[in-house]
Amino acid sequence: MKLNRRHVESTALVLGFLAAALATSWTSLGIQIDKDAYDWMLRLYEPPPWRTETMLLAIDEQSLQTSGGVRGLRTAIAEGLTYLAATSPKVVALDATVADVTDPEPDAVLGAALRRTPRLVLPCQLLPDGSGFEDPLPRYLQWGAAIGHVHADADAVNRAIPLEKATGTKRRWALALEAFRVSRNAHIVESVNDLEVAGIVIPARRADSRRMWIRYLPPSMPGVPRISLKQLRDNPALAERFRDKAVFLGVTAQTATRDRLMTPYSGLPMSGVEIHAQAFETIAQGRFFTPAPGWMELAFCMLLTVASWSAFTFLSGVRSYFAAAGVLAAAHVVPYLLFRHGTVFPYAPSLGSSWLTLVASAAYQHFVVRRRMLRAELDRGRYRQAMHFVTHEMRTPLTAIQGSSELMGRYALTEEKRKQMAQMINSESKRLGRMIEIFLNVERLSAGEIEMKQDCFSARELIAVCVERAMPLADRKRISVLVEEIPDETLTGDRELMEYALYNLLTNAVKYSGARTQVTVRARRDGERLRLAVEDQGIGMEEKETRKIFQKFYRTSGAEQSGEAGTGIGLSIVEEIVTRHHGAIEVSSRPGAGSCFTLVLPARPAAPQDATHTNS
Ligand code: ADP
Repeated sequence: MKLNRRHVESTALVLGFLAAALATSWTSLGIQIDKDAYDWMLRLYEPPPWRTETMLLAIDEQSLQTSGGVRGLRTAIAEGLTYLAATSPKVVALDATVADVTDPEPDAVLGAALRRTPRLVLPCQLLPDGSGFEDPLPRYLQWGAAIGHVHADADAVNRAIPLEKATGTKRRWALALEAFRVSRNAHIVESVNDLEVAGIVIPARRADSRRMWIRYLPPSMPGVPRISLKQLRDNPALAERFRDKAVFLGVTAQTATRDRLMTPYSGLPMSGVEIHAQAFETIAQGRFFTPAPGWMELAFCMLLTVASWSAFTFLSGVRSYFAAAGVLAAAHVVPYLLFRHGTVFPYAPSLGSSWLTLVASAAYQHFVVRRRMLRAELDRGRYRQAMHFVTHEMRTPLTAIQGSSELMGRYALTEEKRKQMAQMINSESKRLGRMIEIFLNVERLSAGEIEMKQDCFSARELIAVCVERAMPLADRKRISVLVEEIPDETLTGDRELMEYALYNLLTNAVKYSGARTQVTVRARRDGERLRLAVEDQGIGMEEKETRKIFQKFYRTSGAEQSGEAGTGIGLSIVEEIVTRHHGAIEVSSRPGAGSCFTLVLPARPAAPQDATHTNS
């Protein structure tokens, strides 16, 4: 297929829109749209409920109060662990800092409790300067089966956690992941794109700190079951419920910890320890979300861009709006359908590529393409006019030339007659040549392509030349042409065009008048202007028609009925010429009484040297 300008232009625009849409999705607005859309989809799509494997042992406000406040925290943790020891949970993950030395007694009590807890996962945190990890005290560390970090995504709403945190030399898996590994008594097998634990493959790319989206328990589930230490104290039998569970032990009392985060579901923040438990559930259930691969994102956006562009380029009217609605529906629905299958497809690029392209291509069609169409239509109109002009105006001299030359060839004519005809042929062909020249000039004039000549010429001479040229027509109808006293004025402009204009008025006056009438030509100065009038006693026209006769191709009903040939473009050209000369044309007429056409042109009294500049 041959590439034309429109194809190249369209392709460039489509690529431009695509690039703009993708670029917008990287702005903070685009990122926020993606996050909001994620939350919205998570809330919209509720998976069927499942049996939770985790339990929370919460040191809540009441438990803490009855344990002597924050100072009694270690004793409280130790107490909780003691209850758990009897129920052999699958794993116990502790989410409370035990990195510093406090009072010897509670420290020792905690140490003893930790020692008695099998399958224990201890917490650690990155040091604020990122130089290493703040681990539990070494005396505690020895009792842990594993150690996991307790960091979540640094965002106002917690959607994911990094499964891996690394400093220069050390790295730690997340508390939830370690808890899961210990609960399954398995190893973590790593690859670039995922982690595998006990047969479960977690899609978590190394390049992304092994970020894992948490599939929070949907609102249809009561949440991670929890028992507080206080409840256990009041009813030790409750401890049985921890049997065979993955237990997350942590502080939920707000006076002791600010470790609470918003989730896509909650109107209220969720405690850190519960978030770890939820991450454990995500892994244990294998309910992962994976980001859509880059190629898929690009291909879908490209598809949307091309479809949006096509909707307004190849379709029109209601159909284009239907197509646009279809594209928008796809842009909104496809990411959600993918989400239901565990693929997180960013919303911003698909919204951007569809909306942006739709709006831009609709605007492009409206402004650029439509303007081009109008221009093409105008060109076609001009061409049609040109054809009319050629066929109508130029036929007369051509017929005369053809007729005369034929006569000369066919018959033996007298020398005098032959001379007369040769002269006629000569003058008619010259007239034809002039007409062609004028025609081309007028064409270029209305296209704004020609610079008009700036001659100085006498109004008297102009009138004389035109009247002389129109005389034969007038004679044929026995119309007398009266030229009144003309003041000696100089006009400036293109003499040939002006001759064309005046000649047109004269021939019209003759054409649209009955035989034996009179056409009067008069001129008078009016301030800085010359008023040059051609008055006839012809068919005239209605008042309302006088406003239309300067429109191209308009002919009055009287003119049509008169049987005189005409195209209705002569006056439009006259008006164009006069306007270009900073003048105007006026008309007054009465049906049956005649018409008067007046050219109002800038003029000045003739100076002696002007006569030498005339261009005849
Ligand atoms: P044409 O004479 O070829 O039809 P013009 O543009 O010169 O085209 O004139 C437009 C129309 O104006 C004419 O068709 C005619 O109806 C009207 N008209 C022009 N001049 C006169 C006139 N002197 N008297 C009456 N009608 C006129």
